[in-house]
Amino acid sequence: MARLFPKIYFHPDIVDADKASLSVASSAVLYGLSVYTVFNIHEQDGEWLAFRLGDHYKRLVDSCRIIGITTFENEWTYEQFEGAVRETVRANNPHEDVFVRASVHVDELLPGTRTKGLHTTLSLFLLEAAPIVPQEGMRLKTSMWRRIPDNAIPSRAKVNGAYVNSALARQDAMDAGYDDCVFLDVSGHVCELSAANIFLVRDGVLVTPNNSCDLLEGINRRTVLEIARDQGVPVEERTVDVTELYIADEVFVCGTSSYLAPVFEIDGRDINHRQFGPLTRQLREIHRAALDEPSEKGWLTKL
Ligand code: PMP
Repeated sequence: MARLFPKIYFHPDIVDADKASLSVASSAVLYGLSVYTVFNIHEQDGEWLAFRLGDHYKRLVDSCRIIGITTFENEWTYEQFEGAVRETVRANNPHEDVFVRASVHVDELLPGTRTKGLHTTLSLFLLEAAPIVPQEGMRLKTSMWRRIPDNAIPSRAKVNGAYVNSALARQDAMDAGYDDCVFLDVSGHVCELSAANIFLVRDGVLVTPNNSCDLLEGINRRTVLEIARDQGVPVEERTVDVTELYIADEVFVCGTSSYLAPVFEIDGRDINHRQFGPLTRQLREIHRAALDEPSEKGWLTKL
């Protein structure tokens, strides 16, 4: 279990972790009606740097819009959100890198299954930055569970209730002895993992499923694409077949809690002789530096 830091922001207060509770009769608990995001904070000499905080705020707003949660965007400006993040981090005073999980919960009691005009509460908490997938070569299994399509529960929105889909597929992969799943969409094309985006390299071209393939529009996915373009690497965002993964020169995944990590095996087939690929290694180093060191990209917000 990842270590939870002791102080939680539960609007409007900072409270002890065991006091940040939602009612069992809330829509958040009953119907999974919360949206969330997770972002990295790098700690250096008593300073905290949040990665792409504005993009995470924007994705929370977008998730709310898709679902029809209207209150968050009206009640929380970016500046207020950043202030709450700062308050939470300072209250916990971490001397290490952490993941921050920010959630917007529909906390009205028993309104039935609807979304608009309902009361919401923002919560923020810190977790130790323990990666959720192996960092030195993971094993994946294509899932028999399909990724929820855009016209069922949109994967583009980071909705808590939708993570039942991820839990089913990841547990199935783990039961079979793998680290995580490869999700396919209803027509059999590759989407992503249970909580990370996927990339492959073929003949020097970096390929990843496009944003219409029932995936979460990952902020690290966008970052990796930008880094690759900056490095002059040809990039394709397009439909990907699972057999392309089998014959790829390199496969890797990325996400906040996954960082950028190589895949060594998919469905019993070795990828790149179970070795780190050169592009994976290059992008991983630049991605890691982007999380830790301020640059002209302006990706890090000092808290
Ligand atoms: N896909 C899913 C389903 C996820 O849960 C995550 C983790 N947030 C990602 C992709 C990666 O997104 P990000 O880079 O924004 O963390």
